[in-house]
Amino acid sequence: MTSDPGTLFVVATPIGNLGDISARAREVLQRVAIVAAEDTRRAGQLLTHLGIRTRLLSLHEHNESARVEQVLAALIDGGDIALISDAGTPLISDPGYRVVEQVRAAGLPVSPIPGCCAAIAALSVAGLPTDRFRFEGFLPARPGARRKRLAVLADAPETLILYESVHRIADMLADVEAAFGPGRPVTLAREMTKLHETIYRGDVAAVRAQLADDPGGGKGECTLVIGGAPVVDSVVSADLERVLAILLRSLPASQAAAIAAEITGARKRETYQLANDLKSE
Ligand code: SAM
Repeated sequence: MTSDPGTLFVVATPIGNLGDISARAREVLQRVAIVAAEDTRRAGQLLTHLGIRTRLLSLHEHNESARVEQVLAALIDGGDIALISDAGTPLISDPGYRVVEQVRAAGLPVSPIPGCCAAIAALSVAGLPTDRFRFEGFLPARPGARRKRLAVLADAPETLILYESVHRIADMLADVEAAFGPGRPVTLAREMTKLHETIYRGDVAAVRAQLADDPGGGKGECTLVIGGAPVVDSVVSADLERVLAILLRSLPASQAAAIAAEITGARKRETYQLANDLKSE
């Protein structure tokens, strides 16, 4: 008789305060056969804090592909496995995607044990629109590549959420100011749920100043939430369409869009798209 396969539980752990673990996460970590963890030393500290002695298996970005077979075999054998990362929700700027994808592809059960996620925690206190948001995780560390990405994101209308190392946060804010303008509203959530939790709020120029003035500003973990690009109101849109229609009589779409955006103050990407739409009508 073959036993039922085990379940892969994807378990969120605290992003700071260890008390933020759910009762269900604790119970699952206790009862599974194996806890697959990004860093077994850190996971060991969490399990010790919780009084749990489940076997640990290391699963990080460098051995994830190799571990898949082992995880699949254990699940097929009937054992349940909990997947955790160093903090927060696994797979969110953390390892785990390959394992979850392969376990799903094998038709085996995967179940979430939800909890902390720094992106959502920061968004919940940012005081910025939450109806539409865009999570970009870590932008490239190299300044040139980061600025390129920010230039692409500057026109996005939805609230943007970024992770950043504290060592780069001042440079990142300077680049955000250059790409998005000094008036863009931002919230910088530092050390959430920890002793030195600080939420800086204001336009990007003001937040840069607050961070620079804070003696503790150079330490801890940071999540940055940036308000979306202001939506062009309908008066501007109407003007834009009229100006574009005139320019398109004698200019190619790209030139007409560049001039129309300058005249009306509309966003370049949107204007270019509208120019192409009008041209193909
Ligand atoms: N999987 C995690 C999650 O669900 O939040 C994120 C992992 S990612 C490797 C770590 C980044 O999350 C940090 O560099 C920082 O940007 C952000 N972060 C984690 N804990 C935080 C905290 N307590 N306060 C602010 N940001 C935090």
